[in-house]
Amino acid sequence: MTEEKTCIGCGAVLQTEDDKAPGFAPASTLEKEMPLCRRCFRVRNYNELEPVPLTDDDFLKILNTIGSKDALVVYIVDIFDFNGSWIPGMHRFAGSNPVLLVGNKADLLPKSVKPNKLIHWMKSESRQLGLQPEDILLVSADKGTGIDSAIRRIEELREGRDVYVVGCTNVGKSTFINRIIKQVAGGGDVITVSHFPGTTLDMIDIPLDDGSSMFDTPGIINHHQMAHLLDAKDLKVITPKKEIKPKVFQLNEEQTLFLGGLARFDYLKGGRTAFTVHVSNALDIHRTKLEKADDLYARQKGDLLTPPAADADAFPALVRHEFSISEEKTDIVISGLGWITVQQSGKVVAVHAPEGVAVMLRPSLI
Ligand code: GDP
Repeated sequence: MTEEKTCIGCGAVLQTEDDKAPGFAPASTLEKEMPLCRRCFRVRNYNELEPVPLTDDDFLKILNTIGSKDALVVYIVDIFDFNGSWIPGMHRFAGSNPVLLVGNKADLLPKSVKPNKLIHWMKSESRQLGLQPEDILLVSADKGTGIDSAIRRIEELREGRDVYVVGCTNVGKSTFINRIIKQVAGGGDVITVSHFPGTTLDMIDIPLDDGSSMFDTPGIINHHQMAHLLDAKDLKVITPKKEIKPKVFQLNEEQTLFLGGLARFDYLKGGRTAFTVHVSNALDIHRTKLEKADDLYARQKGDLLTPPAADADAFPALVRHEFSISEEKTDIVISGLGWITVQQSGKVVAVHAPEGVAVMLRPSLI
């Protein structure tokens, strides 16, 4: 029987068969005295993180260990998918540790959005979800905006303690960490990986200069995220790549807008008025009469109304949410897709979105 070899970085048992599973390494690596799996090799040599799939149970086990540490938790959410990227029970996982909430993908916000209003909304949503962050920052991990402030704030809040970076998949956690590593290390080779005790495959340990560590925890898949209802090609359409261009629609009562085939907005009552749609510039919007909308969707889902393009029949049914808008300038947020600003009060609307995808009101960010 051959002896099992483990990665000196993360402790995973090395294997050569499945390059998507933990511990994968090329066969030649197994001959080495101090072998590293490909993932740890890449972290060490290129400062790059490669995601490894874990089950939700694995992930929860790892999250559960954080509450018992004395550490700073850096919690990353996607500002376009705030509720979809929220980890249920996050306040329990953090325990009594301070949390720095980081809203990523700020580069996509239209210029008209006031960052302070967004931060204010994130604060009140977090409170409602049971979490009281020490501070809230907006960053663009992709463009590097706000990263210097994030590093500074992490230094201030951690007070010499370890740092745990947590977030759902797709919020940009890897991009954020890679950005920090590059900024702090200047691209140099200071990163080492080490096994985090008590778990098998788990966290990447990025040493900080005072001997403490920043741990990258694996991302959990939140199954209600719009992103997980779509394939890679469709996801590209709904994921904004650059600043969103708001689109204004003057609607009469009983008119409907389809956001591709992913969601539907019915204007029911309140006289002719303007609605501003904030979604990916690549997502087609179709206007039709309310009375024709059901039939159009049944016939055209996956054709005229896309995404979903592939396997449109498997796409979940849309659930209707009706709202009476009592405040002027209200956003109706469809988590993971964007939001529609209702300019005036006294309007009645309905939004249809896939089951599980959060639809909610907030004061407009403009
Ligand atoms: P993870 O699953 O949380 O580690 O997320 P990734 O770092 O892999 O990023 C998920 C997706 O979001 C990728 O398509 C990234 O290019 C994109 N992304 C990450 N950060 C940003 C950002 O600051 N702005 C924008 N526009 N996209 C980002």
